[in-house]
This record gives sequence, structure tokens and C-alpha cells, in this order.
Amino acid sequence: DVTGNRSDGRKGDLVATDARHVLHPWADLSALGRPESLIVCEADGVEVVDSSGRRYLDAIGGMWCVTVGYGRRELVDAMRAQAQKMPYFTPFGDISNAPATELAATLAALAPGDLNRVHFTTCGSTAVESAVRIAHLYFASRGMPEKRHVLSRVDAYHGSTFLAASLSGKEADRTRFQYESRWVHHLASPGYDPDTSSVSADQRLRELVEGMKRTITEIGPEKVACFIAEPILASGGVLVPPPGYHEATRELCRRYDILYISDEVVSGFGRLGHFFASEVRFGIVPDLLVTAKGLTSGYQPLGAVLISDRIADSLVAGADPAKPVFSNGFTYSGHPVACATALANIDVMERDDICGHVRDVGPYFIDRLRELRTSPIVYAVRGDHLMACVECQVPGEVGPTPRNQALAQRVDAYCEEAGLLVRPYENLCILSPPLVITRADIDRIVNILADALARAEQDLRAGRGC
Ligand code: PLP
Repeated sequence: DVTGNRSDGRKGDLVATDARHVLHPWADLSALGRPESLIVCEADGVEVVDSSGRRYLDAIGGMWCVTVGYGRRELVDAMRAQAQKMPYFTPFGDISNAPATELAATLAALAPGDLNRVHFTTCGSTAVESAVRIAHLYFASRGMPEKRHVLSRVDAYHGSTFLAASLSGKEADRTRFQYESRWVHHLASPGYDPDTSSVSADQRLRELVEGMKRTITEIGPEKVACFIAEPILASGGVLVPPPGYHEATRELCRRYDILYISDEVVSGFGRLGHFFASEVRFGIVPDLLVTAKGLTSGYQPLGAVLISDRIADSLVAGADPAKPVFSNGFTYSGHPVACATALANIDVMERDDICGHVRDVGPYFIDRLRELRTSPIVYAVRGDHLMACVECQVPGEVGPTPRNQALAQRVDAYCEEAGLLVRPYENLCILSPPLVITRADIDRIVNILADALARAEQDLRAGRGC
């Protein structure tokens, strides 16, 4: 059955129990209770194994996060050693733990500019929320509490806590939940694809920058606290802005005294070939930088906000003398086991030059994927190094229409049948494999995708579904 139902072979007790008791993140509520989950039980290298023993090449990288691959002894040893030595103690107030302190210094050394102060959180969403709260505190500390509006972008994804979900700008993600709309604004989606766009990159850049300037002016610069941006929009569909976009938006932020928050939850930790992409790839040093996911290679949950010395100094200078407390942080901020894992992860990345490897295989990955554009049901192939997506279409029909989504789901199902996991999202197949993939793994991914596309196209021609 290629319509999304899991094969019988997998319908063991675990699948039934899962269907009965678990509400998955981003679950399809119309399918809640149906025994269809893939229960992943084991993993090694770039592969995962499900509850019925089937192996898959993981082209999702867990969820953009498993960067050094599965089964890394160094990370597991670090986790075990730290759990045995000191599994947890409060990070609140003036208390820390050795791995958190050491990791903060390591991150400061890896980060661009004067991003030297680290506030640990538990994941990407809490890091995003904390970054925006820091922007609010910064302006309040300078006597400007009304400077609290936040600029994000259509198609952005920043997480799923209340504020992070409000900052996210993907139309399909806006459901019957509540969202903050009084002081959160979404600028135009900045994706630019020379293959499919009818305007030049320069023209698109001008429109985007003018649009941002207009929105700032309409709100009033004295009310805008910060702008948050993923260097390349990840879950929104691997949308790459036109060249010069980041420098231009950074410059507008500087001009209007708006803090620039770079959300490197996906782009950081090697996915684009560097520990952080903001400066090396896009020429900007943000005021605040958010990281998570690849920070621990997904082996432990952890997030962090990197804060510039300028902002940190200002928070101190402008603190309320009656209440000089930085009232933000979590029980598991800077969790010792997670921080020890991150340190081991960074050691492996440096020792094995994983960023260099990504710079080597990344262009091959994108070039090979671009060969798939010859398929009539591929609208576009976008990406940069090891973040990419294949956008599917019923010929002549553009965008996430129901038919295009059904087509992409079919491609995903055929990939899964052939032992490849890609991430289905609307009419996209998103790819973010572990950074250690080889050229042979890439060939396997592309070959399976090519077959899946051919089969889905035959179905379409034969009028079978879609
Ligand atoms: N920011 C970006 C760019 C993301 O892609 C994500 C998650 O996919 C988040 C933030 C939220 O991270 P988390 O799911 O760890 O809360």
C-alpha cells in the first residue's frame, strides 16, 4: 500500500500501543489512533532500523540534527561518564556545572564577532523565545520598553512554543491554535530560485529590502525590537534568499536600531560546511544567534542563545536596581549530560573535519539532486550543501495543492519502500542527511529518488491515485 499506510510487517505491539497512547508532534489528527507509526528501534552510521527489522538510509538526519551519524562511541561514552559523575544540578542563579561552563567558552570561540556570552536552553524553540525575550529586555534596559515588535518572514519556521509558533510564517502550520499577532509581523518570504523565478535576483532583492523598510516605517522603528531570520529557510521549503539579502537586512537593522537574531538551529553545526554560517557564508555578524539540533548531533536535547558582548553589557548596565534578575531559563538549561555530549560532538567534528567533508560532498549532493529536474513531476530542486528539497508537481500545477501533496506523499512512500527515508512536507521531499554521508550514499539517495519519481509519474499517467 503506497498511500501512506505502514506495511503489515510492522504492525507489532509497539505500533498498536503507540496508536493508542501517543500524540506525536505535528501528528495528523485525522489519523490519530491508526496503527501506522514507524517505530525506529536501532541506528548506526547513516541508517536506522524499524521494529520489524527493516533498514533505511536516513536522509532526514533524524530531524536535521543527527550530524555525526548514529552509534558514535565518543558521544555515548561522554554521556555515560557525565551521567555517572554528576547527572544534574540546578543551573539557576550563580550555580553552574563543568561541561556547561566549558561548552559556553567553546561556543564563544567558534562563534563570529563578539558573541561571547551563552544562555543555554532546552531546544530550538526555547532558544528562539529566549532570544526574543532578551531583545525585549535589552530595549527595556535602555528605557525603551515600547520597542517590542518582532519581524519574521512568511515561510519561516522557528519552533512550536507559543511565541516561536507565532514567529513561524508557514501558512499550512497556522491551525486553530492561538498566535500572537499584535506585535509579530511577517515580511515577504525571501526565497529566490533562479530556475523558476520570472524576475532577476537583483530585482527580488530590491523588493524584499524595500518591503522590510516599508514595514519598519509603518510600525515605527521606535517600536521594532528585533528581526529573526534563518539564513536559509529550512522547514519552509529550503528557501534560499537572493545574494546580498542578509547583508542588506543586517544593514537595515543597524540603521533602525533593531537587533538581528540569526536562527542557526538548522544551518549551524556543519550543515552548510561551517560551525556557523552567518558570517562565513552570508557576511553578517548577528546580535544574537540561536543554535540547537546539531549542537549535540541530536544525541541530547539542548539549545543555546549566543549573545554579543555589546548586548550583554547593556543588560547589565540597564538592569533594574530593585530587581536585577535575568528572569529567564529552564530546569534543564545547560544540562550537564547534554553539554558533555555537545563537547564530545564538537571534538569529533573537529578531529574528523566534518565541516570540510560537507564542503567537499555538499556540492556533489546538490548537483546530483539537480539531475532529478528532468522528471516531469519535479517543479524545482533547491538547496545548499546538505540541506535540500525536491518540490513535486502534477505538470502545470504549482504549489502545495492537494494533488501535488498527494504526489509527493507517493514519492515519499516509494522511497520508504526502497529503504530511504526523506521528509515529506506538503509537496516537498526534504533532505538533510547526516553530515558523514559518502558519495556512494548520495548516489543511493538519488537513485532511489529517481525510481520513486518515475513510479509516481507512471501512476499519475495511468490515473492511479494522485
Ligand atoms: N528554528 C529552526 C530554524 C528550526 O528548524 C527548528 C526546528 O525544526 C526550531 C527553531 C525549533 O527547534 P526545536 O524543535 O528544537 O524546538
